[in-house]
Amino acid sequence: MKKLKIAIQKSGRLSESSLKLLKECGIDFDNGLNKLKAEANNFPLEVFFLRDDDIPQYVEDGVADIGIVGENVVLEKDKNLKTVDKLGFGKCRLSLAIPKDKKYKSIKDLNGARIATSYSTILSGFLKKNKIKAEIHEISGSVEIAPGIGLADAICDLVSSGSTLFTNGLKEVEVVLKSEAVLVSNKNLDKEKQKLVDKLLFRINAVKRSKNNKYILLNAPNKNLDKIIKILPGMKSPTILPLADKGWSSVHSVVNENEFWDIIEKLKDNGAQGILVVPIEKMIV
Ligand code: ATP
Ligand code: ZN
Repeated sequence: MKKLKIAIQKSGRLSESSLKLLKECGIDFDNGLNKLKAEANNFPLEVFFLRDDDIPQYVEDGVADIGIVGENVVLEKDKNLKTVDKLGFGKCRLSLAIPKDKKYKSIKDLNGARIATSYSTILSGFLKKNKIKAEIHEISGSVEIAPGIGLADAICDLVSSGSTLFTNGLKEVEVVLKSEAVLVSNKNLDKEKQKLVDKLLFRINAVKRSKNNKYILLNAPNKNLDKIIKILPGMKSPTILPLADKGWSSVHSVVNENEFWDIIEKLKDNGAQGILVVPIEKMIV
């Protein structure tokens, strides 16, 4: 049987979450320190540990069939790949920043600026779209110090909390791209490998869904059951079980994280008691 080859970041911001995702998909392998490659014991999968910048090329060439990498890297490298799914971790944004004390009214203020970045492809596309003429200085690391040493007037770099910008005396003025980790695939996988990708994707989706949803149990007075059922959509519809105490029922359902607190409030307003909320490990619809 063929093995699917997946490339993930060897060591960096995406490594831990990538490994965790594979584990949560029930895939088990030893990843000893400094290993370049590992084989799963219970899924036809080989895992390659690489620098994130190299992953798009390896997947395009078919050295790896699929890979986990930031969208920012996918767009910057601009290889011939298929983006299969967003993975919900490694969230960050690629932003333009300038020294804190400089005035900034609009993007036009960047006309004629020297901008330091390691994302010249994405940045030049952004500047073109906004009709800005600026000079791009491609540098590979420590972009945030460029204005301080007189190398540039602005930078275009990844930001998550903004604290690195702040400590370097910079302020964020434009968001160029919002990014998260994605699963990319080679465009010419054969049927057998595509089947394995689909199998993996099915598991990934079950894990993702479980993270966005909670299992909820509560006691409800029977006279309010209709209203409570309307508040709780559930996967199909809620489960209702009679309590030993007549006039009361136990209601079980699944709620989405985004609507969670709203729903809890409405349930309480309608007489729900003893509300329990439990994490879901996997969710198959
Ligand atoms: P490598 O050694 O593999 O080349 P790297 O130093 O280029 O690693 P990391 O800093 O580990 O890369 O970031 C990997 C990815 O994590 C980024 O490309 C981006 O998609 C994501 N990421 C999330 N938050 C941030 C952040 N605050 N700063 C930088 N990257 C972030
Ligand atoms: Zn990198």
